[in-house]
Amino acid sequence: MPRFRHILDTMPPYKPGKAVVSADGRSYKLSSNESPYDPLPSVVEAVAEGARQINRYPDPGAVKLTEAIAERYDVPFEHIALGAGSVTVAQQLFESVGEPGVEVVYAWRSFEAYPLLADLAGVTSVRVPLAGEDHDLDAMAEAINDRTRMVFVCNPNNPTGTSIRRDALVPFLDRVPENVLVVLDEAYREYVRDEDVPDGLTLYRDRPNVCVLRTFSKAYGLAGLRVGYLIGQEPVAAAIRKTIIPFAVNHLAQIAAVASLKAEDELLERVERVVKERSRVREALIEQGWTVPPTEANFVWLRLGERTLDFAAACAVEGVAVRPFAGEGARVSIGDPEANDAFLAAAKEFRG
Ligand SMILES: *Cc1c(COP(=O)(O)O)cnc(C)c1O
Repeated sequence: MPRFRHILDTMPPYKPGKAVVSADGRSYKLSSNESPYDPLPSVVEAVAEGARQINRYPDPGAVKLTEAIAERYDVPFEHIALGAGSVTVAQQLFESVGEPGVEVVYAWRSFEAYPLLADLAGVTSVRVPLAGEDHDLDAMAEAINDRTRMVFVCNPNNPTGTSIRRDALVPFLDRVPENVLVVLDEAYREYVRDEDVPDGLTLYRDRPNVCVLRTFSKAYGLAGLRVGYLIGQEPVAAAIRKTIIPFAVNHLAQIAAVASLKAEDELLERVERVVKERSRVREALIEQGWTVPPTEANFVWLRLGERTLDFAAACAVEGVAVRPFAGEGARVSIGDPEANDAFLAAAKEFRG
């Protein structure tokens, strides 16, 4: 038998959100926090045009896209590092700090990729339980020791949707030693409407040990093309550029992301519609008697405990795919009004 790393024997495989279909053929995918809208015609056109060059390798430096991001966020070109989705950028961060004995601190439950990436990089995960549905920043600060090289803070948190406000985050950042990198994973930043939740880009400039992860997968609707990025000071961005596999961000992804920044107003209008639906869905659930933590992301969280899998099965009967975490709860993406109505009907039915 070929031999592999021991960690592969214990690593749980990543479970992607899957589609389900009701008996009468309805199917609503609310399991992966994707944009419910078709891609914009202008973006599809740019990608179609770009398809004429796919015999060539992509620009390894993704210069046009990096310039577009630099201009959009008014950050230096050198502060930006791209990856094939922000998950890949996160992986490069783990690889960049990873050595036997190194610890990485993150909240749990949070984004499912963190433990997998930690295992793959051979670092030790230090999971700090959520306090209720929120990051326990005091406990996270206390979990940092000489072996800690990195802390992930998912804001808003996937899957609970809760977010950390400035008055909690800034004192936390002040407590973290300067040689420990803090990664603010802001995959859902565009959906945040609470003005007290800080934009990580306002925090990293005078903090060399803070960086921000963003993605084109959610609000910008490019999940299928895989492009995300980090913004951080030069040594952090440089580490990511060093660990990237050459040509990781493909030509069409680069083109689509540039086109999406050009069409940003249109895309953010769609985000606004999702935000409105988010309020409607949350209020309707509360009306039905559910407890739903306030959410600043494009999903809601229901802590169902032992009923989680039954709930997911009941939603599936109605053609609604949700993301269950057995024994804990279900995360349900905000889709278009029809999908949300189908979910609300299933939720109501489940309560009986
Ligand atoms: C969806 C998500 C990502 C981004 O994934 P991509 O690789 O960019 O598609 C990153 N972090 C969190 C917390 C997410 O939920």
